[in-house]
Amino acid sequence: MSKNNSLLYFFKQFPDEKSCRKYLEERKWGNNPVCPHCGSSQKIYRYKDDKTFKCACCNKQFKVTTKTIYENSNIPLQKWFLTFYLISLSKKGISSIELSKTLDITQKSAWYLLHKIRYMLQHNDSDNQLKGIVECDETYFGGKKKGKRGRGSENKTPIFGAVQRKGRLSISPVKDTKRKTLEPIIHKVIKENTHIMSDEWHAYRKLDSNYEHSVVKHRIKEYVRGDVHTNTIEGAWSHLKRSLMGTYHRPSKEHLDKYCAEFQFNYNTRNNSPEIKFRKTIDKNNIRIKYKDIT
Ligand SMILES: [Zn+2]
Repeated sequence: MSKNNSLLYFFKQFPDEKSCRKYLEERKWGNNPVCPHCGSSQKIYRYKDDKTFKCACCNKQFKVTTKTIYENSNIPLQKWFLTFYLISLSKKGISSIELSKTLDITQKSAWYLLHKIRYMLQHNDSDNQLKGIVECDETYFGGKKKGKRGRGSENKTPIFGAVQRKGRLSISPVKDTKRKTLEPIIHKVIKENTHIMSDEWHAYRKLDSNYEHSVVKHRIKEYVRGDVHTNTIEGAWSHLKRSLMGTYHRPSKEHLDKYCAEFQFNYNTRNNSPEIKFRKTIDKNNIRIKYKDIT
């Protein structure tokens, strides 16, 4: 797809199943198919149906969709592709109701399709650690009462987030906001010796040994001190909340991790064209997802 980011252009490039399959084969293998069962690329034969291959090494058959997100799905590839494309075009995400109308499938099918994609984004994300200047913060989702931080927020799900200034975001729901919960996540997602900025929440108190740590004292109404602030992560929180409330109409707690993964992907590809975003999504397709992973 080129600069032309319209649906017309999509259908020109992907008019049918075959064009989608060819695109996947090209993206995945170039000119040399690789057997997903044994990893061999020697002696691979293509059947007359044009989709099925046979590997002479392990004697097994496969298709480009074997061991991928498309396996065991009765949704045609073109509908999968169109969903990826709509996600790439949309800044706010897409609801299962909207998608079911666009694809002419049931809302239940659309719901599974979107959740499989979110699950894929959640489990196939970059492992690169955040570095440079990174802001850390938590927010709360759900529940009726406004609730204070930590105490009094029993019905709410805390979400921890870290964002590299002018860079990537990493967010995930957490069971609580205690130090012993947040610290391991911080060590996992943020590179050692990074300059972390947070507020004075006690969970961040002992970061000094592995990181440079600056604290903005929200309690005394200090929000910015030179370049010490958490405005970037707070901006991301307000986007996240708008997206969760607006597009998804308060998703349930059980699925919050997947919505967070989708939001994170959208944030981290915010400067990419729909074409690049589409391609990045396609390149994450090598994941098998079972029904029980989603429910
Ligand atoms: Zn093989």
